[in-house]
Amino acid sequence: MIELTSITKSYKVGNDTLDVLRGIDLTILNGEFVAIMGPSGSGKSTLMNVIGCLDNPTSGNYFLDNEDISIYEDEKLAKVRNLSIGFVFQQFQLLPRLTALKNVELPMVYAGLKKKDREVRARHALNKVGLADRINHLPNELSGGQKQRVAIARSIVNDPKIILADEPTGALDSKTSVSIMEHFTQLNKEGTTVILVTHEKEVAEYAKRIITVRDGIILSDEKRGEAL
Ligand code: ATP
Ligand code: MG
Repeated sequence: MIELTSITKSYKVGNDTLDVLRGIDLTILNGEFVAIMGPSGSGKSTLMNVIGCLDNPTSGNYFLDNEDISIYEDEKLAKVRNLSIGFVFQQFQLLPRLTALKNVELPMVYAGLKKKDREVRARHALNKVGLADRINHLPNELSGGQKQRVAIARSIVNDPKIILADEPTGALDSKTSVSIMEHFTQLNKEGTTVILVTHEKEVAEYAKRIITVRDGIILSDEKRGEAL
């Protein structure tokens, strides 16, 4: 369970302070499927970075499964991140010189797994996203949708409890987006908490809860069909 209380995030820009998150209270239960929407610059990616332990909040508390991780040092936070959270990005973020298989193995290299185990698990993850026949391709030998499926395979290879996806369909056409969203839906059905940021209403509708952020605060929080 993710529990954020009174989270703020401010950046110093020259002599000014930019208050990007201005008091976020948010609880996301295990197994939820949440979409975060809101205008450009409203703080969605900043919020995702805090949830993903990629960035520390300026103030407030973050409890992950009842553990106060807002007090964790970078190293401990990185451990939580590697064990619990998978990331998917708009621009895929694959390493261009590594094959699909090697890209998917990367999080396990960081986690210190043996080569043989890494390969077995990477093949399994690529199989799951329907890319068994593309494992030795380089990213530039893959279509956009295939690249994003490699990124999804990479995000699930450590078996995370939570997947965070920031505009995962932002660089894809609508048909490919549907196939990518079906993968997230399947992972959610298997129990993974999925949190994604999107500008597209059709994409948000795959989620069971839609949160709207504006100017660094939560403007609305609705379960599909019912106001909270
Ligand atoms: P988009 O929909 O365009 O991706 P967003 O909602 O994800 O927007 P954020 O990336 O969270 O927006 O940025 C929110 C605000 O914080 C922006 O005004 C941005 O310029 C500012 N910002 C983000 N990161 C930093 C940083 N490292 N230093 C200074 N300002 C930052
Ligand atoms: Mg963003």
